[in-house]
Amino acid sequence: MTETKETKVSTTDPESGYMVRDGKPEGFFYLDHRTVDHKFNIVTDVHITPGNVHDSTPYLDRLELQMKKFGFENSLEAVALDAGYFTAAICKGLHKRNIFAVIGGRSFTPTKGLIAKWRFKYDAQRDTYICPQNHDLPYSTTDREGYRQYKSNPKVCAACPMLNECTRSKNKQRVLTRHVWQDSKEWVKQNGRSRSGKYLYRLRYQTVERSFADAKELHGLRYCRLRGKKKVLEQALMTAICQNVKKIANHLERQVG
Ligand code: SF4
Repeated sequence: MTETKETKVSTTDPESGYMVRDGKPEGFFYLDHRTVDHKFNIVTDVHITPGNVHDSTPYLDRLELQMKKFGFENSLEAVALDAGYFTAAICKGLHKRNIFAVIGGRSFTPTKGLIAKWRFKYDAQRDTYICPQNHDLPYSTTDREGYRQYKSNPKVCAACPMLNECTRSKNKQRVLTRHVWQDSKEWVKQNGRSRSGKYLYRLRYQTVERSFADAKELHGLRYCRLRGKKKVLEQALMTAICQNVKKIANHLERQVG
């Protein structure tokens, strides 16, 4: 059976996208995926997509484009991103490029009443998880999204005193997943716990967060003035230019005075 997906399309601006996100207004929007440098707070990239495109989707392409454009292929040191970018592909992409990455963590809520995944220890040498009762969950298969599955032995679980807290599956089997790029995700988490990682992440509030807030509050970027992606891009670019000119002027003034 072919799967069909319903997409809401605006009758007044079909190029916009219907956005549904926690803590954000719901409706037709565009998104400005901007990049801001940490040293001078200059907007280095502006990219417009419909509001239903996930933040993480254009990220690596836009990063690559900027590295080429500004000649940063071998000199980009670090990036700090919010939790929306914590995907296996982005972690892997940054790890591979040797860019120190700090990404905000998502708070995963374990299923109520069930033992959380962190209580299972991963043994990298044997490529197996070990459950709180000291039994192995060996590797079983990898799904199409790149998640490796580790499964307990239902015969062992059937006799386990923790069965009811461990799984609700009919066949009495606990299944854990681990992405093939999990090592890169762990590396990013580790960076976030380091002193420089914590410092870098805190800086986001003064750089990219501040840049977005100024764009919306001081430069009218909260609302699109015109319809269509191209015109929204023009507005976003003009806004970024104004913000950059102000930043450069401030910087020069400080140098002179
Ligand atoms: S139910 Fe199975 S996987 Fe869960 S703790 Fe018991 S033996 Fe381990």
